[in-house]
Amino acid sequence: MFSTLVALVIAAAPAQERTVYLVPLGKVEPRLLEVARAALEARVNATFMIAETRDLPEEAFYTPRQRYRAEKLITFLNSDAPDDSWHIVGITEAPISTTKGAIFDWGIAGLGDIGGRSCVLSSFLYKKHSRTRQAMERRFADVVVHEFGHTLGLDHCPVKGCVMADAKGKAIRSADESTGDYCKVCRERVELRTPGVLKPPHAPPLGDGRGEGQTTPSPPGRGPG
Ligand SMILES: [Zn+2]
Ligand SMILES: [Zn+2]
Repeated sequence: MFSTLVALVIAAAPAQERTVYLVPLGKVEPRLLEVARAALEARVNATFMIAETRDLPEEAFYTPRQRYRAEKLITFLNSDAPDDSWHIVGITEAPISTTKGAIFDWGIAGLGDIGGRSCVLSSFLYKKHSRTRQAMERRFADVVVHEFGHTLGLDHCPVKGCVMADAKGKAIRSADESTGDYCKVCRERVELRTPGVLKPPHAPPLGDGRGEGQTTPSPPGRGPG
């Protein structure tokens, strides 16, 4: 009996040491924050806290396209990260962009710093291009898991169905082709870097609404990050 208790305490310890803050940037509907938290909680051993809303920083606004530069939002999130934060997930409803190859300002759904502290997600493209709420939430959850994977040290992955697939500029198609989970190869990479951080596979699916069909041209993707 005693040894069982000890084992339980040890097993619970790592999650308590890892706190991830979900930071709403500007006005974000609470339901979206919960979708993000649920998707990550099902996959990652950590405590996920929803932080207070922060104003979108003016210095990240790119006036010519009326949207926010994702890499500047990441810098902003890093600049006053809580001391106990292991990772930070910024979430906004505003359009975001970054530089993709020769295109200076490319609209994206998310950007994650590989092996870094923070990532940022936007619901903007999915809200605009999803016909159902269900599809929008599934796609949004998928990109949350993807960008968080970058902060866990993962780069893009060629394995079919892996959530870390390169969107290649097609945010909707990529989310719909994804299983929503890290593949075996990616899981092993994360395990080497941060043992025990991923929960066992077979997390609950991200929801329905995959492949609802597209009536609009593919919007720009989640980008190089
Ligand atoms: Zn993979
Ligand atoms: Zn990526």
